[in-house]
Amino acid sequence: MKATLKPDRHPCFNADVKARCGRVHLPVAPHCNIRCNYCNRKYDCANESRPGVTSAVLTPVQAVRYLETVIEKEPRITVAGIAGPGDPLADPNATLETMRLVKARFPEMLLCLATNGLGLSPYLEELAGIGITHVTITVNALDPEIGARVTSWIRDGKAIYRGAQGAELLAGRQLDAIAGLKARGVAVKVNTIVIPGVNDEHVVEIARKMAELGVDLHNCMPMHPNAGTPFEHIPEPAPERMDVIRTSARLHVPQMLHCTRCRADAVGLIDSDRAAELRECLSSCANSLPGTEERPYVAVASLEGILVNQHLGEACRLQIWANGKNGFTLVEERDAPEPGGGMKRWSELAEILGDCKAVLVNAIGETPRRALAASGVLPIEMNGFIQMGLEAVYSGRNPGQFKARRRGCGKGRSCGGDGSGC
Ligand code: SF4
Ligand code: SF4
Repeated sequence: MKATLKPDRHPCFNADVKARCGRVHLPVAPHCNIRCNYCNRKYDCANESRPGVTSAVLTPVQAVRYLETVIEKEPRITVAGIAGPGDPLADPNATLETMRLVKARFPEMLLCLATNGLGLSPYLEELAGIGITHVTITVNALDPEIGARVTSWIRDGKAIYRGAQGAELLAGRQLDAIAGLKARGVAVKVNTIVIPGVNDEHVVEIARKMAELGVDLHNCMPMHPNAGTPFEHIPEPAPERMDVIRTSARLHVPQMLHCTRCRADAVGLIDSDRAAELRECLSSCANSLPGTEERPYVAVASLEGILVNQHLGEACRLQIWANGKNGFTLVEERDAPEPGGGMKRWSELAEILGDCKAVLVNAIGETPRRALAASGVLPIEMNGFIQMGLEAVYSGRNPGQFKARRRGCGKGRSCGGDGSGC
């Protein structure tokens, strides 16, 4: 299969724009489902980062607030990526909800994900539906015997796999995920952490296979020996050795030569990162109750006032809740605009909810999601008690955790989601 990469506004995939297009990493995914022998879990994910801690982990709602501030200070940001600090798909709810909210609030933003690929395939359709454009997968070995030396365990659901069995499972999932991404037109970069004496002789074979799958870009990264890991005594490969490896791999797939191994909370242009400067902003977003002063209320789509159980398109009225001294109180009910009228209906609703920071719904179409998020009301899909959703929103946690996995309605991607419900 031939690579499909076109010049784009992603500075990692297109070095020509790295001086004018920036990226921001939203650190919303702290967990991981595998154990790489070069990774110290106290540090950032080496998928994309040099070792170092992220200053904070954000909830999806906080991530959007953080992004708003970042864009004010650095309008050249064109890409929002999730690269850990663990694996984004070990925290799929937080990752998907963040991407949904970002896309709704900033429709022009490119969405990027860096993952080990183990848990990617079940979410391909959902990610494509959200509008993800770029994915990086770290592939360190295709040969299970080599992979067994790179990764000490792999967790798949409740089962833990070790040795060649685990490595074979991981490589198989990665190949499936890459094929699935390419079938959906997503640009794919593959990272390979080059570990002397372990997989350095295997990199060209990986490059050959990646070319077959249509991978757009390959990033061979020298392993950084992290203290406290099984590979701490393996020295970082010399630049000359990396040159030889990249030259051979380039015969099969284009090589990325401008990677700066950015942190899981990187922000700014690749060559002039502003993470240190924005660290305080990141920390304060992580500790904040976003927008409580200017938007004190939360709207809820509920049939009986106990559960969040209505599709927004079906709700004739919305409950307005506040967090007062005596806990959560129902302030009033507000009529929603009449169905019909297309976009006008959602602009009117955004106005009606002008003092609400979020609206809790059982489900919502893509058009109202974008209209509401663009006006500052974050739509949150969830199932369960209103109380649980309010606690999550007001404490800055992720209400997406209460969301049941959607059952397909049979329309798949052809559903335009005009917000009227299926
Ligand atoms: Fe995406 Fe990786 Fe670039 Fe971050 S560093 S924007 S995750 S490709
Ligand atoms: Fe560490 Fe990333 Fe490997 Fe997970 S996938 S163990 S976070 S390097």
